[in-house]
Amino acid sequence: MKLLAGNWKMNNTLEEGADLMEALIEGLSAEAVGDVRVVVSPPYLQLPQTVHALWENAHIAVAAQNGHAADGGAFTGEVSMAMLRDAEVDAVIIGHSERRQYFGETDQDVSDKVKSALKHQLIPIVCVGEVLEQRKAGTYLAETWAQLHAAFASVKPEDISDCVIAYEPVWAIGTGEVASAAQAQEVHAYLRAQMEATFGVSDMPILYGGSCKPSNAEEIFAQKDVDGGLIGGASLVAADFIELVRILKAS
Ligand code: PEP
Repeated sequence: MKLLAGNWKMNNTLEEGADLMEALIEGLSAEAVGDVRVVVSPPYLQLPQTVHALWENAHIAVAAQNGHAADGGAFTGEVSMAMLRDAEVDAVIIGHSERRQYFGETDQDVSDKVKSALKHQLIPIVCVGEVLEQRKAGTYLAETWAQLHAAFASVKPEDISDCVIAYEPVWAIGTGEVASAAQAQEVHAYLRAQMEATFGVSDMPILYGGSCKPSNAEEIFAQKDVDGGLIGGASLVAADFIELVRILKAS
C-alpha cells in the first residue's frame, strides 16, 4: 500500500489551516490520488474543521499528531485516543522523534499509545529512527529495531497489519539533510524482515520521513521497501504535497 502523510506540526492559524486544506482538496481529487492513501495531520485545534472539510473526500484521511494512552481522567493538557475517535479522526502519529526528544516519551509510552489507538480503532503511525551518533556508531539498525519491537511487543499480530511504520532518521528531520535512497532502503528492508521474523507480519506500509520533498522524493519512493512518506516541512506547502502524491503514485 502506498501512503503519504503530512505532519503539519505546530503550525498555522485556524484560517491558514483551512486554506491549506482547501488547496489540498482542490489538488487531490480521487483521480489525482489514485492508489495512494493520503493522510493529513493538523494540530489538535484544527482537527474538527479538517474532518468536516473532508466529509465528501473519503480518499483523504485525518491523523492527530499525538494522543494519550488513558481513556480519560486527570491528565491536564492531554487528549485521549477515545476523544480523537469521537472527533472522527482516522489515525494518530505515535512516538514522533520530537515527542521522544522534547517531551520525554519512552518506548513504554509508545507501546501504551499503540495499544490505546488500536482499542479505539485509530490507525497508529509509529515513528522510529536513530540519532546522528547512532548512525555514526553503526548501531542504527539495532536502535531502530529496538524502538519498533517495543512499540509492537504487546500488540496482537493480527492488529499489526493495521498499523503504519515511519522510519525517520532524527538527523534528517527538519534539517534539510535527507537519507540517501540506499540508506532508507537498507533500514526499511531490515525493519520489514525483523517484523516478519518476530511477529510474522510484514505487509504494513513503511514510510520514510526526513526532509523529503519533490526534489528528492523520486529516488526514495522508487525503493522496494519504501511505501511512501511522512512529510513535515513540505506538507505545509500545498503544491509540494500535491507533487509528492503525484511522484508516489507514479513510483
Ligand atoms: C517529520 O517531522 O515527520 C518530518 C519528516 O519532518 P521534515 O519533513 O520537515 O523533515
